Amino acid sequence: MKAIRRFTVRTVLPAPIAGLAALAANLRWSWHEPTARLFRSLDPDAWEEVREDPVALLGSFDRVRLEALAMDSDVVSEVQRQVADLQRYLTEPRWYQQQLGAEAPRAIAYFSPEYGITAALPQYSGGLGILAGDHLKAASDLGVPIVGVGLFYQAGYFKQSLSRDAWQQETYPVLDPDGLPLTLLREADGTPAVVSLPLPDARRLRAHIWRADVGRIPLLLLDSNIPANDDAARVITDRLYGGGGDHRLQQELLLGMGGVQALRIHARLTGGPAPEVFHTNEGHAGFLGVERIRELMDDGLAWDEALAAVRASTVFTTHTPVPAGIDRFEALQVGHFLRAGLAPGVPTENILKLGSEDYPGGDPATFNMAVMGLRLAQRANGVAKLHGRVSRRMFSGLWSGFDVEEVPITSVTNGVHVPTWVDPMLAAFARERFGAAAGTGDGEEPNWSLAADVPDADLWALRRRLREQLIADVRERLRASWLKRGASRMELGWTESVLDPDVLTIGFARRVPTYKRLTLMLRDPARLKALLLHPTRPVQLVIAGKSHPADEAGKRMIQDLVRFTDDPAVRHRIVFLPNYDMRMARTLFPGCDVWLNNPLRPLEACGTSGMKAALNGGLNLSVLDGWWDEMYDGENGWAIPTAPAGSSPEHRDDIEAAALYALIENEVAPRFYGVQVSGGAGAAGPSEAAVGGVPHQWVQMIKHTLSHLGPQVSAERMVRDYVSRLYLPAAQAGQAAAKGSFAGAKELAAYARRVRSAWHGIAVEHVDSIGLEEEPSIGDKFRVDAYVRLAGVNPEDVAVQAVYGAVTEADELSDPAVHELELSEELGDGRYLFTGDLRLERSGSFGYGVRVVPRHHALVSVPELGLVTSAS
Ligand SMILES: *Cc1c(COP(=O)(O)O)cnc(C)c1O
Repeated sequence: MKAIRRFTVRTVLPAPIAGLAALAANLRWSWHEPTARLFRSLDPDAWEEVREDPVALLGSFDRVRLEALAMDSDVVSEVQRQVADLQRYLTEPRWYQQQLGAEAPRAIAYFSPEYGITAALPQYSGGLGILAGDHLKAASDLGVPIVGVGLFYQAGYFKQSLSRDAWQQETYPVLDPDGLPLTLLREADGTPAVVSLPLPDARRLRAHIWRADVGRIPLLLLDSNIPANDDAARVITDRLYGGGGDHRLQQELLLGMGGVQALRIHARLTGGPAPEVFHTNEGHAGFLGVERIRELMDDGLAWDEALAAVRASTVFTTHTPVPAGIDRFEALQVGHFLRAGLAPGVPTENILKLGSEDYPGGDPATFNMAVMGLRLAQRANGVAKLHGRVSRRMFSGLWSGFDVEEVPITSVTNGVHVPTWVDPMLAAFARERFGAAAGTGDGEEPNWSLAADVPDADLWALRRRLREQLIADVRERLRASWLKRGASRMELGWTESVLDPDVLTIGFARRVPTYKRLTLMLRDPARLKALLLHPTRPVQLVIAGKSHPADEAGKRMIQDLVRFTDDPAVRHRIVFLPNYDMRMARTLFPGCDVWLNNPLRPLEACGTSGMKAALNGGLNLSVLDGWWDEMYDGENGWAIPTAPAGSSPEHRDDIEAAALYALIENEVAPRFYGVQVSGGAGAAGPSEAAVGGVPHQWVQMIKHTLSHLGPQVSAERMVRDYVSRLYLPAAQAGQAAAKGSFAGAKELAAYARRVRSAWHGIAVEHVDSIGLEEEPSIGDKFRVDAYVRLAGVNPEDVAVQAVYGAVTEADELSDPAVHELELSEELGDGRYLFTGDLRLERSGSFGYGVRVVPRHHALVSVPELGLVTSAS
């Protein structure tokens, strides 16, 4: 019989172990191994059965069982110890409190459409969400006062399985928030707090607010599945990235505008401080800026004043150079929703302009969320150095008249949360070996700078244990997958000996958009087969990944791959595991010797799975894209060469696949099996060292990876970068804008109005270079005199700049430097002489130009107002 209603009965715990409820309610258990260990110890089998979910574990115990636990003095004292530890963790001053002064922001809002914190709270689809989860966890460890904002999806992302013929099947198990580590935000009278947005046709979209505690970080998740909504509004938060068009747009209106409302409600109910910085993780939450503008205009600010104040305190992170990864709506459709009264008092046309692709190559009928994100944030960044460069080019149309290098998008390279992603076995190993000297407490980052002193054989033996742990998991998952695919138990004996704990294990797992090229390894199936079945130096492959449900090409790639793995000739050496999630990932990364990544460069913005592998001593074998482009150093793995620019896609895949096979065959496998490799291809044939020995060169690379990459790929490094380079400056700018009833924002807006209206009259009339030799040489100096007409603008309000450097064949300055000229003479009639000395620092072609740009202390970058006039 089908239940007509379901609800979860909350467990009532006996007093001696009541602390378990607090431990289960705070998601810190998901990265604090001692707490997770405590839960596991209560009932190891049940812990596996509930897939490592403390709330479900406690719910699975009956009263007799709970009474027995409450009588167990070991359990009781461990509960007390962990509760005390959590309390200390939540309240003690940490890095942020110790290092930063009183002017540091007291709250920072962080918006993301998805959060990957633990498999037990499945509210993520892939890298973006897991990054957001890692960001919150690292912020918690560092004491950074972030408040997270997102949506609560009833079905999260889909669960993946395979049909008999290897086609991806999706199911959407419905989550019951009462059975998750969430608490409902309630008003003082006990009724649920409600966020509410008007919709067209006099409808409303309301949402309740669930709060998850991620260590010290509150995470607010908006849930539209409430009785006060009509049916259509209830399903807005049904699934992650569900539907298209209107559905997605309403999700994003709720996330952005409803999210700001939720923050206000949360601050009111908890007495917490209002956020001083708003960080939006990708463009999906961009409407948060519109809601903040609405608030300020309600308080009497003009549009441009409110915009200036919002921009000052907003940080925007762009995450993808793939156009399909960016949300774009029809401008008409956005206007339709806005006109329902979402932001009364804010001119709809102005909002539509924020997202308009009104630049060459853009589509003016489109409302682009990334474009709005950039226009609503005074500070913006990509997620790796290469991605920063790519983003500056990609969005340069928004700053026409400026060189790509000047586009105000910096980069902060992503990182991964170390305590989440280091295998407990490896963490314990580090603790034992380095002990207090390395400062490795539970849940802290191992200090691998001491790794050099660890005997190679010990590290190698540990790596084998990690490989074994993975293989056990693989066999179990493979069997389960085959049963789902309709095989009988009788046919599945072979799964018990799949993979070999002494064979070089290569991992590849990620979402399956085309650019990640899941099937590049299948380019030459015979070649792959030969690598798998090599008589002395075989490799084995573990592969996983979900395709977006609407992406047929992705599903076909999975099918091609799975069909290859189904072949009895190779199926003991290559496996595809369905339903890639964080739980699988935590065993997969540590168990792989090599982590493979072969995207189409430069489409992988950063990529983080290779970082997680590196933290566990895995070596990366990757195209020089994303993070690997900046962190590959020749000793921490291998770079797959990229085909020359301009190659056809087919040719490109051929070249890069061939390079991949050759690297595995000639470099990776020989080194793993202990053949001494120096430079190019190693001598063929098995080596003595391979037989039961330790491949010292390989272990050297592991140690190098742990000690050098470990600190660089850590999410603590990332969050510290965000704090110092983006949050603190944004907080200061926001405070300056808001001070004295927003005098700062008003002043900047008035300045922008003033110079904008006069700008067309500004001209560089004439430029002289004085003292330049006929044949100049390095070190020579000369003077630049620029005669400039300012048309009523004050000379203090502009900068007159010489821009100089090497000149390309097309007479473009490449990578130019800027030197500001000084006002030397007022010539009357609004004309001025600006002057300055330039020095020739380099040989070769040299050129310079002169330009006039706005100058104001509250501007962060030169192109910010989009105004520039150059000498012609
Ligand atoms: C790390 C991780 C990702 C993201 O990996 P990328 O390398 O950024 O593609 C996706 N899914 C899971 C489960 C992960 O752990």
